[in-house]
Amino acid sequence: MLYVIAAPSGAGKTTIVRGILKNNPELIFSVSATTRNKRENESEGKDYFFFTKEEFKKMIAKDELVEHEILFNGDYYGTLKSFVNENLDNERNVIFDIDVNGALNIKKIYGNKAKLIFIMPPDIETLKERLKKRATESEDQISERIKRVDLEIGKKNDFDYIVVNDDLEKAISEVQEIISKFNK
Ligand code: ADP
Ligand code: 5GP
Repeated sequence: MLYVIAAPSGAGKTTIVRGILKNNPELIFSVSATTRNKRENESEGKDYFFFTKEEFKKMIAKDELVEHEILFNGDYYGTLKSFVNENLDNERNVIFDIDVNGALNIKKIYGNKAKLIFIMPPDIETLKERLKKRATESEDQISERIKRVDLEIGKKNDFDYIVVNDDLEKAISEVQEIISKFNK
């Protein structure tokens, strides 16, 4: 199974995915490729594989990505074919933290193997507060992220499940329930 978690930036998907991984050590996190700068608490190969734009464009040309999107500030984000296929070949379940369009593309490619879970923020003000409090982006970068929220929420009904992340523990247990349904 491929569990694909998507949400507007700041809704809490990384936090939820970390909680799920802690409870499910057999689950593999799909490490994406990106051109954005590494945050202080992130490490290469664990959170992302970090590339220059030139390197990333070469991977696109060589058809090495399942899907990719150009997101905030023109940075590239993409799912590596080698990473996903190797895990599927070994019958491992994979969890993704990717953007809404990426999630819908994964569904197109992998069909019923992919279960799409949309994480909703309680409301837009809370989302803004969380992004400010996280303090990993500048004001401008936060605005760029906020600009995409309506577009992303507009696609939530194309997802298999919608989970509201108000109380974190409750949201994690709702996602866990979905995963447990398929991982018996
Ligand atoms: P995303 O990966 O969707 O961009 P994060 O997981 O980084 O979002 O969460 C954004 C910020 O909000 C982080 O600082 C995180 O600790 C905080 N956060 C996540 N979920 C909750 C919650 N339910 N209540 C309060 N703060 C939360
Ligand atoms: P961040 O910069 O906060 O880590 O991520 C920004 C956005 O990029 C998030 O919505 C995240 O889920 C998304 N993202 C991360 N990896 C990928 C990927 O491989 N493909 C796509 N389409 N989006 C991704």
